[in-house]
Amino acid sequence: MDFRELEKKLVAFRDARNWAEYHTPKNLAISAAVELGELLEHFQWETDEEILEAVKDPAKKEAIADEIADVVIYLTLLAHELGIDLDEALERKLEKNGRKYPLRT
Ligand SMILES: [Mg+2]
Repeated sequence: MDFRELEKKLVAFRDARNWAEYHTPKNLAISAAVELGELLEHFQWETDEEILEAVKDPAKKEAIADEIADVVIYLTLLAHELGIDLDEALERKLEKNGRKYPLRT
């Protein structure tokens, strides 16, 4: 599923529930940050080794995946509200990163 397809599904899901009025750019940006905080709760006080061990538990891995999905969902809806094509934005940003951080041989 690419971002355009995800965007269509999310907008349809939202519109079927009449949530559009709440999905202002500010609310969506805040919601993305809140969900990122929920993701970080899984990592708080843990070492990287402990985190990698924890995700061997399927339930823990799914809980973390859910929070990552929440962040992506809100950012996709934010891009929708701002008229930003995420597929294009990601391609463009990867090109910029490639120019900014060229391979060193
Ligand atoms: Mg969440």
